[in-house]
Order: sequence, then structure tokens, then C-alpha cells
Amino acid sequence: MEIAADLIRVLAEKDRIAFKKHSILRMNQRGILADEVKEVLLSGEIIESKEKKAMKCVLCSGGMERSAISVPYEMDQEYILVVRGVPAWVCRQCGDSFLDISVVRALEKIVATARQNGVTMGFIEYRNAA
Ligand SMILES: [Zn+2]
Repeated sequence: MEIAADLIRVLAEKDRIAFKKHSILRMNQRGILADEVKEVLLSGEIIESKEKKAMKCVLCSGGMERSAISVPYEMDQEYILVVRGVPAWVCRQCGDSFLDISVVRALEKIVATARQNGVTMGFIEYRNAA
């Protein structure tokens, strides 16, 4: 079954978007913001699709549960920041994690603020900074 492009747009418009933890690392390394991904979802077209069901892990179809994870932000020889206690959806079966777009936006602000303050290495608690 293919997810219709207009359904993706409706969900993206409502911020019903989740990001894999791995995606966030790669987005950061390429300078891509969560809202830029949203813009692509709103205006782009589908070039490939996989069968998916709501609230099931896209990798193993395991059930997802709310949890808190650590998210590393790093750029070679520039900074290594780890944000702890980040709310996420975690797969009970394979352990992979997904983050809502509102959380990714907050992470982007937290890391930008830390870098503006000259912080190049360390741990940041999400609940204190978000
Ligand atoms: Zn899984």
C-alpha cells in the first residue's frame, strides 16, 4: 500500500513528523534543519515508498513506546554535544528511536545556543534547555 502524497502533506502541515535519531545526526552534519525537511514534505513528490503502519517501527514492525534517549550532535574537530533525556519513540523490539519534529526543532535551538555560547564539548539536559 502506498501512502498518498496529499496525506503526507496533511500530516506534515500538522507537524505529525518523526525523525530517526540517525537522521538528526546526518541532518546536522549537512546543515539541514527540521523545518527544511518539512518544507520538502509539503512541496515534494514521492519517488520511493515502503509499506508502513502507524506507530509500528518502520524497520522491524515492533511496537513503539515513549522513552527518553541521548542524542549526540557532532561535527568533526568542531564540537561534540550530547543532549540527554530527549523524549522519543523507541521500538520495543529493535531499540531504534524516532523523534517528533517539535523535539528536533528544540534540539536544533539547544545546540545552536550552546555553540553561540562557545560550548564545544559536553552534556546538556533536554528538560533544562528546551
Ligand atoms: Zn524496530
